[in-house]
Amino acid sequence: MSKDIRVRFAPSPTGPLHMGGVRTALYNYLFAKKKGGKFILRLEDTDQTRFVGGAEKYILESLAWCGISPNEGLGSEEQPYGPYRQSERKEIYRQYADQLLESGHAYYAFDTSEELENMRERLKAAGNPSPQYNAITRTSMKNSLSLSAEEVEKRLAAGDPYVIRVKMPRNEEVKFEDIIRGVVVVNTQNLDDKVLFKSDGMPTYHLANIVDDHLMKISHVIRGEEWLPSAPLHVLLYQFLGWDRPEFAHLPLILKPDGNGKLSKRDGDRLGFPVFPLVWENPETGEEASGYRESGYYPEAFVNMMAFLGWNPGTEQEIFDLEGLVEAFDLDRVGKAGARFDPDKTRWFNQQHLRQRTDAELAEELKPMILEAGLNVPERELEEMVGLLKERATFLKEMIQEGAYFFQSPKEYDAKTVSKKWKEDSPALLADLRDELQEIEDWSSENIEARFKAFMEAKEIGFGKIGPVFRLALTGKGMGPSLFDISALLGKEEVMNRLNAGIENIEK
Ligand code: GLU
Repeated sequence: MSKDIRVRFAPSPTGPLHMGGVRTALYNYLFAKKKGGKFILRLEDTDQTRFVGGAEKYILESLAWCGISPNEGLGSEEQPYGPYRQSERKEIYRQYADQLLESGHAYYAFDTSEELENMRERLKAAGNPSPQYNAITRTSMKNSLSLSAEEVEKRLAAGDPYVIRVKMPRNEEVKFEDIIRGVVVVNTQNLDDKVLFKSDGMPTYHLANIVDDHLMKISHVIRGEEWLPSAPLHVLLYQFLGWDRPEFAHLPLILKPDGNGKLSKRDGDRLGFPVFPLVWENPETGEEASGYRESGYYPEAFVNMMAFLGWNPGTEQEIFDLEGLVEAFDLDRVGKAGARFDPDKTRWFNQQHLRQRTDAELAEELKPMILEAGLNVPERELEEMVGLLKERATFLKEMIQEGAYFFQSPKEYDAKTVSKKWKEDSPALLADLRDELQEIEDWSSENIEARFKAFMEAKEIGFGKIGPVFRLALTGKGMGPSLFDISALLGKEEVMNRLNAGIENIEK
């Protein structure tokens, strides 16, 4: 019988969601959609010391921006296995810790932090670089395996603080199949007696995670590689509790652009690109970290780029919308090797998605931005202007910066071009050109071009002498789309005005 596909994204609200988190959410979403399953959002907030206000809202907003909102759990009306915040599920976990205590797979430990510290110091001094609470060291610590039953009873009755630890078997192979990594085998000698239940009455991540995945009927756990070392413990816990376990898929790391190490939250603006989907203001310091949304990226370009960080469709196709990704996605095509993040490629994705839009769509998107910049929206010609600007733009906002001359007459003239191209006879030449163009009756790009060429011939001058000068007066810039197309779109009267203003105002 095939199981219902149910996957979860289970972030901890310890700060803003970073790119790695978005990628995990995205792969879960794509997998669920492809298989007609559920994509569930659960908040793993059992560690109250690391809680950051605003993080949950940020996570929901980021997923919504990417278009990958959950269809069960937080952010969704559908909540059949709620609550979906672990802090609100506190009562649920204890019984499973008790079950493990009863079956002998867990035990009470009463050690104070000082005693734990002493143990570590002692072992380090004896030459053990990474001391652990495990099958060997537990015998010399204060726990229900080393103390007498009466002593344990007495301590519990007296309300002494304790934690519950897993009793890791001494020398056993834990073996499981990871969808991405294949067979993983770990000997329990390399695992420690992790705390499952804390003295504050809260479960740790390990216990809460598997209890919830079980109760929420999760079929596949798709998460970052940093959780691979925890997977053997999780496999054992499922076994100890007598539960079937979900399948595992551990996603490859996202590496820094130079390939040296994992891309971290702190790399963000330090390396000159955002690592967060949305801008994030640290509630404690007020410091701001930039986001892809605010930097002008299209969510579909961001998502397209993220999908390729660790996966490829096995074809040449690189540009996908979300639906296309759902169609093409397969965990079998997710690699094991770390995926190097490439900020240039990220910009390229945005450029490609911008070009995919029709001129009419771009014009609609630009309108509010033009108004916001305090410029005029030329209703009739905007679409054609967009058509001219689109080829040179990577971001929408660049179209406004680069094409500002479409929306207002030039306020200044590019100094470099002026110093190179503006000559003593330039004002007189421009005046003659103005008079020539004035004659045109049918103001079209072709007619303007024909007149302009005839003018150059009559004057026996090359394009280099008049072209840049004409462009300066028209746009204030040294480069840009076809002068004749620009002129046609600006209209005759406006071109005349700009030529007059240029003759008057351009100075070396
Ligand atoms: N709460 C964990 C995190 O913050 C989730 C790990 C998992 O998916 O099991 O990444």
